[in-house]
Formats: sequence, C-alpha cells, structure tokens
Amino acid sequence: MSLHLSSPVTAIPGIGSLAAKDLRNLGVVSVRDLVLYLPYRYEDYSVVRPIGSLRHDDTVTVTGRVRQIESRASKNRKVTLTEAMIENESGEIKVTWFNQPYLEKTLRPGFRISVAGRVDSRFGGVRTIVSPVWEPAGDRVHTGRIVPVYGLSGTLTMRRLRGAIEHALSAAAELVDFLPAEIRDEESFPTRDIAIRNVHFPESRAELDAAISRLKFDELLVHQLMFAQVRKERAVRPATAIATDAEFLKSFVGSLPFPLTQAQRRSAWEIVKDCALDRPMNRLLEGDVGSGKTAVAAIAIAGVLRAGHSAAYLAPTEILAGQQHAALGRFFDGQPNCQRLALAVGESNDEGNSSQDSDHELLPTLSVGSSVGLLTASQAKIGSDSVTRKELLAAVADGRVRCLVGTHALLQQGIEIPGLALVVVDEQHRFGVQQRKALLDRKPAPHLLSMTATPIPRSLALTIYGDLDLSILDEMPKGRKPVATRLVFDRERAAMWARIVADIALGRQAFVVCPLIDPSDALGAKSVSEVAAMLKRTLPRTVRVGILHGKLPSDEKAAMIASFRDGAVDLLVSTTVVEVGVDIPNATVMVIVGAERFGLSQLHQLRGRVGRSDIASTCYLAPDGWSEDAKERLTAMTRTTNGFELAEIDLRLRGAGNVFGSAQSGFPDFRLATPADIPLMKKTRDVASRILVVDPELEGHPLLKEFVGRELDGVHLE
Ligand code: ADP
Ligand code: MG
Repeated sequence: MSLHLSSPVTAIPGIGSLAAKDLRNLGVVSVRDLVLYLPYRYEDYSVVRPIGSLRHDDTVTVTGRVRQIESRASKNRKVTLTEAMIENESGEIKVTWFNQPYLEKTLRPGFRISVAGRVDSRFGGVRTIVSPVWEPAGDRVHTGRIVPVYGLSGTLTMRRLRGAIEHALSAAAELVDFLPAEIRDEESFPTRDIAIRNVHFPESRAELDAAISRLKFDELLVHQLMFAQVRKERAVRPATAIATDAEFLKSFVGSLPFPLTQAQRRSAWEIVKDCALDRPMNRLLEGDVGSGKTAVAAIAIAGVLRAGHSAAYLAPTEILAGQQHAALGRFFDGQPNCQRLALAVGESNDEGNSSQDSDHELLPTLSVGSSVGLLTASQAKIGSDSVTRKELLAAVADGRVRCLVGTHALLQQGIEIPGLALVVVDEQHRFGVQQRKALLDRKPAPHLLSMTATPIPRSLALTIYGDLDLSILDEMPKGRKPVATRLVFDRERAAMWARIVADIALGRQAFVVCPLIDPSDALGAKSVSEVAAMLKRTLPRTVRVGILHGKLPSDEKAAMIASFRDGAVDLLVSTTVVEVGVDIPNATVMVIVGAERFGLSQLHQLRGRVGRSDIASTCYLAPDGWSEDAKERLTAMTRTTNGFELAEIDLRLRGAGNVFGSAQSGFPDFRLATPADIPLMKKTRDVASRILVVDPELEGHPLLKEFVGRELDGVHLE
C-alpha cells in the first residue's frame, strides 16, 4: 500500500491508535505532519569501527554477532540488567540494557546486529556500551549514520518515532517545490523533498547543512513575502488620523503618578505624531524590562480615546492581560486630572448610556478607567467589575467600552470593536504574523504599536520585521537601584533564606522561581512543589507561602497574583509564568532555583520582576549544577544588568541558540531560523523584493503564492 502525505499516521505500520494519540499531542496527525516534524538534534553514529580498535569515550557503531545474552536483577533489585557480548573478527564488546528483559527473547545468540553508543571502559576495564540503540545488521535507521533525535510524548519511544518517520518519508516526493528553480540553482540548494529527507536522515554533515540551509531559507523567504503582503495590504488602506490634542495629552501626562523619562517622552511623541497621519502606523517600541512601556502605550491610547475612537491592547498571557488592564485603569482613572479625560470622552460619547451605575452618578459621564474592558479565555471585565462575555461584547459594540485589553481571545472571530484606530501588541514576538494580521485586517487600518522587551539591535529588527519604525526606551525611570545579583551555592542557602525572612519581616515580598512544577527524577531539578514544601517546613510560620504555575486553572492563577499584589502572600514559589511583564513593585527579592537551566535572556527577564521601585532589590541565582557554559552565563548576570549587553553575550555563547528564549515562547514565526541567521535573513529579504518587483502578485509563482496565502490564513500545510 502506498503512503500519501494526506494519509493519517495510522496508515504507517506499527502506528496504532495509542501511538497516534501521543503523536497528536505533538501536533502530528497526518503523514505530512510527520514528515515535517523535525529533529531537534542529532547523534553522530556514522563512525563504524572494528571492535578491536575501540577506546574509552568513542561514539561509534559496531556490527557483530550476539555471542551470549542474559538478564538478571541488579544488586538492589530495582532494575533488570540485560547483558550481551557482541563479537566480530576483530574482537568482542559488552553491551548493557536496563529494564528491557524482552531483548533476551529478541536478540538470540547468533543474531547479527548493529549497536551504536558511547564506549565506556570504567567498569572493571571491560569495554562496555551502555544502553545502545540497536537494529538488525544491514539496517541503517538507528545506527551507522547521523541519527535524528526528536521530541517525544507519552509512551512513544524514540525507536518507534524514528522508524515511523523513516517510513513516512516514502511520501516525501509529493512535497511541492515552491522555490523558483533559478533561485534554487543560484544557491545550489537541494529540492524541497530532498532537503526534508536529508534533514531527517542525512548521509553526511554537508548534506545536513545543505538541507537545513534550504529549509531555513524557505521559512525566511515565506516570512518575508508574508510581511510584504501584509504591508502592502495595510499601506494602501487609509488609517484614521488621530488629531493631536496637545493640551489634553499634556494634562494626561501630568496626571500620571510619576514624571516621564526623556525616552518615554520622545517615544510617546513619535507615536502620537504617527497616529496623526492618515496612513497606518507600524512602529516597534523597544525597551528593557521595567523601562515603562505601559505608560507610553497609555498615552497613545488616551489620545485615541480623546479623539472618540477605540483601542485594543493585546497581551500574551492572562496574567499580563489582567495586570495591564488594571494598570491602564489606574492611569486613566485614579488621577486628579482624570475628570478632564472623563469629560473629554463623554463629549464625544452618547450621554445617554453613561451613568447606569449609580456609583458614577456624581461624575457627568463614565470615567475612562472604569470602562476599560478585559477579555481573556476565562475572564470578562468592565473596569473592575466581572461581567459575562456577552455583556462585555455588547458594551464594546455600543461604544461604552472603547479600550479593550485581552489575550488571544481578542483575535477570535466575531469580536467587533467599532472605531478601532489603534492596536497595541505587548511582547509582540509572542504573536505570529497571522495573529497580528487578524486584528489589523480591517478598514480603515488601525495604527499598530508593537512592544518588546527583547533587546534587538536596530539593524536586526529592521531585517526581521522589515520596514517598521523604531522607538527605543534606552533610559530607566529615575531612582531605580540596580538589582544586586548574587550567586548562592549550597552551603550559603540557609543564610540566604534567613536574609529573605528578615526582608519579609520588613514588609517586602519575594519571588522564588523553579524550573519545574512537580518533582522529576529524570531532570534532577528542583520543582515548585518540592521547594514550596521545603519552605513551609523550614521557614517561620509567619511567612505566607503561595504557589503559582501554568497548570493551575486561570482563576486560581489570577487569584494568587492578586493575593501577592495585595500583600496577602509574602513569598511566591512559581514557575516561569511570572517571567513576562509581571509588575509588583513591593517584591524586592528574586530567587532563581536551578538557575543553570535558564538562558540569559530568561534570567534577565526574571530578574526584571524586581527592582521596580526605589527600594534596593536582590536577585539570588541558586544553581544546582555548574557547567562551564552555565558559569559564564551566571557570572555575566552578576556583572551587568544591561539587557543589550546580556543579549550580545548570549548570542556569542550560544551561537545558534537564541536571544529570544525558548523556541516556542520566543520566536514563533520561525521553526528553524534563529537570530543567528541574520545573513540568511538579509538574503531572503533581497530575494523577496527581487521576486516582488517583477511579480508583485506572485501570479508567475503560483506554488509560492499558494503557500504564502495558506501560511497567512494560518493553515500550515507544509
Ligand atoms: P515594561 O517596560 O517592562 O513594560 P512597565 O510599563 O511595567 O515596564 O513599568 C514598570 C514599572 O515602572 C511600573 O510600576 C510603572 O508604573 C513604573 N514606571 C513607568 N514609568 C515610570 C517613570 N517614568 N518613573 C517612575 N516609575 C515609572
Ligand atoms: Mg510590559
């Protein structure tokens, strides 16, 4: 039976409904998905050597006959050991497997197999390969080559998945090659199907490199074309020109609880000027954690509301959406001059619907702050009042709520925001082009303000995002004390907790971030539940410990953040859910447990959760282990608090690793390309514009057009 890209994975021999379920968790449903499920690393087992020549630490494949094989219980009876001797003309070697007693039945003496792994001669001088992969001699899926390693799920084994992908690749010839042949030739790229085959099972490093380059090129080119498309669609659309009411803006800025920094002033002005034009703004506001981007966005939003239009604010997580909703509410509401804003909005609003709530009778109209809406998957609010989703949408539809903050929930079909003139996208790299497009695709085109705390050098930003305008907050609010950063080793931990207890007694609060939610032997890392249990046992009763992680229901998450913000919890043990943007100025201590497991950008983001007031803050990095690489990263953290500097160190240390944090959370537009691929990004930009100059509608490139169109619609076919 022949396999097609459109066949379900169960068409592959050995993939039953159980394996199919595990695959579905990986986003793999069809043979096509499987073929496009790429390895995250490789094992080089291509060195095939005679057994006689093997030395300690060699990573090799050897082929020979099973001479003897038997299983026994280990000394502590916890595991079953299966030990075999493999021999060929040049000698013999021992191999050991754990908890696979069935191998004794499968690998009978005399059977010829290939095994691959690392040779270890520390076991009484006997050369042994521990837990090798194996296959019948002559097969080359798991041994004797550069072998792909994939992310797994459930009970799916590497062996099973690798075998299934190898099988699925028989359908790869159906992959269309959308790259114009002349470009393929120019770059000496393999065709797309060959690139896909070789990215899984390359015959050599050179072949692998060529395959990866080709696939990165495809990804970046399609991305550039998508950008070009979105840009073009937006450019020809008129935008709503927001008349600048300088006097009003001045008084709004005066009502903020702090004087703006020069950088905030300059950026806000650049944004306000852009919004005054009748073509859509496309601006990126870049500023390190804590540089005060929210206030800048608030000024732009205030201007839009004043002019009688609406604004949407998109945040990547529920926690952040809730926090930014509250922050905007405070900026618009709590200040003495707010009456002006309230009046201003009232003037351009229908007076009739403004005072249904008796609390507001005193005010001539609803104040803006109390009419900022919040929409997430689990919450709907108008001001601080919870409402039903339906009530909120009705209020948005009839203009009572003209500033709507939310998560991805804002992108759903059927959410109409009349008069939408400004879209703010916070932590914009968390959203794909398609998602941003969903909000922007309307007439007149809304102005777009993207914001990011990722310190991307200007040149790189232009390369990745194309022709956008850039505002940079290169200045921290006054009075901030740099966060003191300390490395804490095991023997110093007790003293650290004692100091933290003393801080808490002074009314401060502390974050304790752990790499995992639950204990996991496999990773040997500290988890939220272990650390919280340990702290509850050892710290004084008066210290109130809270727990926060991504698996909690979102109302519990919100409630925990609220108790921490309100001071009802002193010490919050959490996963990295607190990473992005959480703003709790009274928290002055950040402890990062298992700090060696985090990348520099993530450590920097986490540290940015403290040092948000004029009180001195401390960040404790408590590593569990200490590799060379980790040492450099953690000492870099103690040396500088400058995000740009750290990003550069990160880029140097990790090369292909990335400035943007982990693959899923950081750089969703790309599966393969990383910021280290700047030269390739530049090249694809040039190629994209070369294609579009002669063929702006891609009529002459139908395969490419179809592919780009589908990607833009969010249907990832290939
Ligand atoms: P980010 O740029 O990381 O999004 P926020 O907008 O959350 O930063 O601001 C961080 C904190 O600094 C907030 O508590 C905010 O109210 C405060 N803040 C912002 N601008 C200033 C300023 N000019 N002076 C003092 N504090 C400020
Ligand atoms: Mg922020």
